[in-house]
Amino acid sequence: MRRPFIAGNWKMHKAPAEADALAEALKRALADVTAVDIAVAPTFLAIPAVAARLRHSNIGVACQNVAVEIQGAYTGEVSAEMLKTAGVQYAIVGHSERRQLFGDTDAIVGKKVQACFRAGLAAILCVGETLPEREAGQEETVVARQLEAGLAGLSADQVGTVTIAYEPVWAIGTGKVASPAQANDVHAFIRGWLGRYPSFVARNVRIQYGGSVKGSNAAGLLSQPEIDGALVGGAALSVEDFVAIVKAAAG
Ligand code: PEP
Repeated sequence: MRRPFIAGNWKMHKAPAEADALAEALKRALADVTAVDIAVAPTFLAIPAVAARLRHSNIGVACQNVAVEIQGAYTGEVSAEMLKTAGVQYAIVGHSERRQLFGDTDAIVGKKVQACFRAGLAAILCVGETLPEREAGQEETVVARQLEAGLAGLSADQVGTVTIAYEPVWAIGTGKVASPAQANDVHAFIRGWLGRYPSFVARNVRIQYGGSVKGSNAAGLLSQPEIDGALVGGAALSVEDFVAIVKAAAG
């Protein structure tokens, strides 16, 4: 059985003091949850405060992006190694906002996944189609292309530790959630795609759904056999909603 994994992407919200307060509230509210892996992804700036607050808790710290390189003349970038030393355990890589707004190509996303392994961060690789791609029936082609590039060069053992977040772009921040069956179909496709590796890979890889997940719709999504958790954006900023999502995952 795969352990459910709920991660909250705080995006560009919450300066350090506010992020610390949110982390403290979540730490208290979720202290008794043992059956779910939980992580939150603050901005780079708030990572030290949040990592200090969540040390010795059941909530891990994620970052929202990593640089490809280790160090050097890369203005504005933060390396996976630096994030690791700041207390980060997980890295969200290939989020659709990075792909659409900041030029992260499939190849760059693959390099960023490699950077995570180099530094010892657990990668959460985001994949998902846009609305025109879905309307053209291309969701599987797009997701397969993103998986191929994102996981290129990894050993089967490494792929077995990656979390895949299926995030249809048309459902992110739009309030338009994929139906549980729609999401489960693509998750099943992803698990089938992982069948090119030895069987433990498809068995172990956790596939999160992301796209307008809230306290009110989490149970329906998480009850699907191929949905192992959620990557949560807007609702991760609300203690009530995020706690409800984690509790839905705990069953
Ligand atoms: C996300 O950005 O990863 C996300 C799923 O956002 P939202 O939950 O707000 O749709």
